[in-house]
Amino acid sequence: MRFASFFTRGFQRHPSCSKILLLCTLSGGGLLSYSESQSESITGPPASNTNSDVPAKKKVVVLGTGWGGTSFLKDLNASLYDVQVVSPCNYFAFTPLLPSVTCGTVEARSIVEPVRNMVKKRKGDIKFWEAECLKIDHANKTVLCRSNIGNNLVGSGEFSLEYDYLVVAIGAQVNTFNTPGVKEHCHFLKEVEDAQKIRRAVIDCFEKAVLPSLSDEERRTNLHFVVVGGGPTGVEFAAELHDHFQEDLVNLYPSVKDFVKITVIQSGDHILNTFDERISLFAEEKFGRDGIKVQTGCRVLSVDDKNITMKAKSTGEICSVPHGLVIWSTGIATRPVVRDFMEQIGQGKRHVLATNEWLRVKGCESVYAIGDCSSIDQQKIMDDISAIFEAADKDKSGTLTVAELKDVLDDIIVRYPQFELYLKSKHILDLSTLWKDSEGNYREEIDIEGFKMALSHMDSQMKSLPATAQVASQQGEYLARCFNRMHQCEEHPEGPRRFKGSGRHTFLPFRYKHFGQFAPLGGEQAAAELPGDWVAMGHSTQWLWYSVYASKQVSWRTRMLVISDWTRRFIFGRDSSRI
Ligand code: FAD
Ligand code: MG
Repeated sequence: MRFASFFTRGFQRHPSCSKILLLCTLSGGGLLSYSESQSESITGPPASNTNSDVPAKKKVVVLGTGWGGTSFLKDLNASLYDVQVVSPCNYFAFTPLLPSVTCGTVEARSIVEPVRNMVKKRKGDIKFWEAECLKIDHANKTVLCRSNIGNNLVGSGEFSLEYDYLVVAIGAQVNTFNTPGVKEHCHFLKEVEDAQKIRRAVIDCFEKAVLPSLSDEERRTNLHFVVVGGGPTGVEFAAELHDHFQEDLVNLYPSVKDFVKITVIQSGDHILNTFDERISLFAEEKFGRDGIKVQTGCRVLSVDDKNITMKAKSTGEICSVPHGLVIWSTGIATRPVVRDFMEQIGQGKRHVLATNEWLRVKGCESVYAIGDCSSIDQQKIMDDISAIFEAADKDKSGTLTVAELKDVLDDIIVRYPQFELYLKSKHILDLSTLWKDSEGNYREEIDIEGFKMALSHMDSQMKSLPATAQVASQQGEYLARCFNRMHQCEEHPEGPRRFKGSGRHTFLPFRYKHFGQFAPLGGEQAAAELPGDWVAMGHSTQWLWYSVYASKQVSWRTRMLVISDWTRRFIFGRDSSRI
């Protein structure tokens, strides 16, 4: 009876409860399963090394079990290779729900899946070592690793692994921009442990603020939550914290409710500036109504245990603001082990590890890199323009007709996606438009100089991919497909023709498909940018968010846990115990 009356009360107070229950049924049962549906689909020859005629399997070492690493492992036909995985975390974390963990909307264990659970479902044997890679020795094709399990255990914990192929998927670390005091006094939101620490720290701030010995000014300082970085993570955290306060803490700490303040500091002119402008403005207006202060155009100079000092970019004015808790969420930087590897292979001057369009690290035959630790260095058309011209000029006349270009067009579009993007952006439907001279007169044929002019602006369409879970997981899937078809494609290449050199590329290059992005804004509202330049905002978008995030969970176990956490939160609120 008590249970039933709880439900009834919950539905009366929150009419949306009924909707969430409906959603549980829908997303639990109907939506696409990212993981298990895929795990069943991998088939391939069974592993067998007993026959001496069968060549030894190639050794594949995978570093990291985040989005990139696990999506690679899920799709890899592990029976074809000797696979070893190294990661300091023996679980995969569903990072998009980390902001929800900071306030207890979702429990930490609901968003993690043990790696061993994931690999045991694969065909073939995958060995997992819970350790950190300390060094990639490119010359000797080995990686040096060290276990990070408590140092009271017997043994040194250091070991090295040989590889034929190395897949680097070790993500990135927080970027502090060397700002003084950030490491010591700020919280980060990158790992599960970070989210758990923030959850405890928020409650600490409230518990401290209600102590009888404090002055009002001290209470106000303790309850000033500052979020540095107005990107999706910072904004989502601020929104979560605001909801937590409004829905739960205001009833538990009524004496200090007027002292709570949330500030988002953003160096750019708007928050969510990687989203459509309409979303940025909607978010700023919503935060304005909620009383979340958005301070744009400000750069943080330093942080200490009591104050955060910043500079207004426009006026140069410097001010210090007292804080209770600072969350630093301003972007990512390369991990030291990747930086060391970059120096070994002559990429020391770059910001991030460069790969080609096949995700192979530039300058290394046997090393691949996916996810946040790498970036694709797209080949420029202008670097290959003479080779393209020569290949297209079939009759070797020294000039090119539109018909000649059309013959190699498919290969150009696959090899240089910026070509198609340029035509689309300029609404060019007919290639002969490119053949027009500067006065707009159509020409039958163009020489190499005319061809260079016609294609000269196309490389400006090249964009680097964002550091997101979507990119990392698509890269992992793509790379696994290449590994599964390695022998087949070496004999029958499927890629575009090589304009420089002869023959075809073994594989089609990686192509990213953008499925849109969400920004939850609190109060059961979200904004979304969906494919086809479609922008959605408001309550219904939050429902879409629930459905998508439920369906994207990596196992039915975590899917059910997350949905039950959401339901629990709707009915009972968040748990504010400091554990
Ligand atoms: P990660 O997922 O970070 O995985 C790196 C792996 O490498 C981890 O297993 C780590 O333990 C391991 N590792 C680290 N060091 C070593 C070492 N020395 N040796 C071996 N292994 C190592 N993206 C979205 O698309 N949508 C979102 O909504 C979204 N929300 C986010 C919210 C938060 C709070 C955060 C932090 C990120 C969010 N992202 C989101 C970004 C997304 O999480 C990353 O882009 C994605 O995790 C990158 O995947 P990855 O495999 O490159 O790295
Ligand atoms: Mg010709």
